[in-house]
Amino acid sequence: MSEHKTVVCPYCGFGCRLLVDPKTMKVKPYPGEPNRGKLCPKGLYALEFVFSRDRLRRPLKREGQKMRPISWGQAMEEISHKLLEIRELYGPDAVAFIASSKVSNEENYLLQKIARLFGTNNIDNCARLCHEASVHALKLALGTGAQTNPYEDLENFNAILIWGYNPAETHPVVMDYILKAKKKGAKVIVVDVRETRTMAFADYKLVIRPGTDIVLANAMANVIIGEELYDEEFVKARTRGFSEIRMAVRKYTPEYAEKVTGIPAGTIHEAARTFALAGSGAVMWGMGLTQHVSGVENVLAVINLALLLGYIGEKGGLYPMRGQNNVQGAAYMGALSEFLPGYVPLTDEKFRKRVASLWGVDDLPTERGLYLTELWEAIERGDVKALYIVGENPAVSEADFMRVRRALRKLDLLVVQEVFMTRTARYAHYVLPASAFCEKSGSYMNSERRIQWGHKICEPMGDSKPDWEILTMLGRALGLPGFSYSSVEEITAEYFRLFPELEERSVDELKNGEGIFLPRKRLHTWDFATPDGRARLFAVERVRPWEEPDKEFPFVLTTVRLISHYNTGEMTLRSPSLVKLMGEPRVLINEHDARKLGIRDGDWVEIETRRGRIRMRAKLGGAPEGVVVVPFHFKANRITSPALNKAGTPELKFSACRIRKL
Ligand code: SF4
Repeated sequence: MSEHKTVVCPYCGFGCRLLVDPKTMKVKPYPGEPNRGKLCPKGLYALEFVFSRDRLRRPLKREGQKMRPISWGQAMEEISHKLLEIRELYGPDAVAFIASSKVSNEENYLLQKIARLFGTNNIDNCARLCHEASVHALKLALGTGAQTNPYEDLENFNAILIWGYNPAETHPVVMDYILKAKKKGAKVIVVDVRETRTMAFADYKLVIRPGTDIVLANAMANVIIGEELYDEEFVKARTRGFSEIRMAVRKYTPEYAEKVTGIPAGTIHEAARTFALAGSGAVMWGMGLTQHVSGVENVLAVINLALLLGYIGEKGGLYPMRGQNNVQGAAYMGALSEFLPGYVPLTDEKFRKRVASLWGVDDLPTERGLYLTELWEAIERGDVKALYIVGENPAVSEADFMRVRRALRKLDLLVVQEVFMTRTARYAHYVLPASAFCEKSGSYMNSERRIQWGHKICEPMGDSKPDWEILTMLGRALGLPGFSYSSVEEITAEYFRLFPELEERSVDELKNGEGIFLPRKRLHTWDFATPDGRARLFAVERVRPWEEPDKEFPFVLTTVRLISHYNTGEMTLRSPSLVKLMGEPRVLINEHDARKLGIRDGDWVEIETRRGRIRMRAKLGGAPEGVVVVPFHFKANRITSPALNKAGTPELKFSACRIRKL
């Protein structure tokens, strides 16, 4: 094992470590935490895309319809000159930055530092599209914005409630923890809009009508409170808001919930009782909860269940399961338009000034910046003139992406720092070639807030550079203070200084160990991070979807992920082994609906919403009546809903649509 080096899997937020032999570039699973000798196919074949012939090798500049190679020096000079000119003419908020959930903590830290020193909080990352609703709800309820417990706790809880989340496809290795818990006798309750692979392991399978999650959660709370199954001592001593929630859930009887959710009242009763009587439990959720206009309220409603039962600390945990490998790190490093590093609000003057002083200035901008999902309208209005994107592909990943593509064309300056010529990069004025994850060193934070080190395994391809090096050059070219880094470790040491919990820890410890939890392994064992130290129970009412099915668009369109695909496909489609495993993406249609529409298995169909239409082959089954299920990875966002919830997350999981056989 000594010749192997460890890297962090570049795909999902579970954060498996890979052991790579630099001579053969063969991958083995890391035997220790967190993956314990396991990997899913994506991890096993993680290095394949790195050696793709499609890799960008030189900086490129647009000249008319063509992209022409230029030197790094020329690229930096021209980009910085244009950014400064736009700031001079229109102010710093005319520039926006998009960070990446795939690059390291150091790289996200540097990009948000550049944005804020440049004078704007227009810095965001794709956490906005997935779990920002969880962050807002967790901040409101507990005062912190991330997963509360480590994965290892999962196997010791007596019940696991999995909501709008399909780990068997999205985080396959976490299933191992869930199955270990089940072996020890834990009850597994799964709530989803369709029968997922995860449901195959469930004791209770709650197939819910899309958009009715709050009704189910409130009905479960109704049972828990009505039958006095809640933890009275915990509720009295450590929470506020109990009387309000007791009043609010009174009308959400299981019988009422059955009519709205489609789940039999008896099943709701039983699932609620089972979860409550287990004595300890986890609530895990994914984008099935957050990507709704009711995303924040949905998450508050399931947090209520854990708080009523005292399933916090040793007795339970809240697990908003992250999508990309460093989405947790990007958010924690401050690549969000409303938070400084550590989810500290921009209005926290003491912390803000401390960060400013570390960066060699008096203060930082205090106005919330634009959410990633608000950028496109701001560009259309002419408020944003320049956009600098690191490793994100909004021309495919954003809801209703044709409006994003229109906006990208309007920019005075678009810079894309990328590994491949993505759909977004095709609109750029400058494309900067970035090194892949194994061609550089740096740290990443997984969903359980474990910071892990990824070691450099091989040299960068062509003239590509690690993102931190490119951003160091950019900071210098812009004349910002403190951009004199000559190693990535200097940046790690700098971000360590922002967090009191890391002050005593060293970069060497991080490089040689199994990771460091920030701020600590388990949160809220004795208090909450709210002003009075108590958690808040929030009475939430059902929020209806932005567009409901009607005569014209009678079906609900929802999007899902597949085990061998990853996000917009730029990496997985360049991995020959994964492509072999994938098969053709299909839209899932209920058999009964298909019969009515004359659609047979394998037929080409058109799926249309108010935003446009896409074509795909049909697969019959796997969707309840009235629901159409599309893998999100490629073109589904051509037609998804851009309606935003309070945290700026679009309603990707619910659009009204119609289908027809072609
Ligand atoms: Fe990578 Fe996630 Fe698969 Fe682990 S479970 S190998 S982190 S994609």
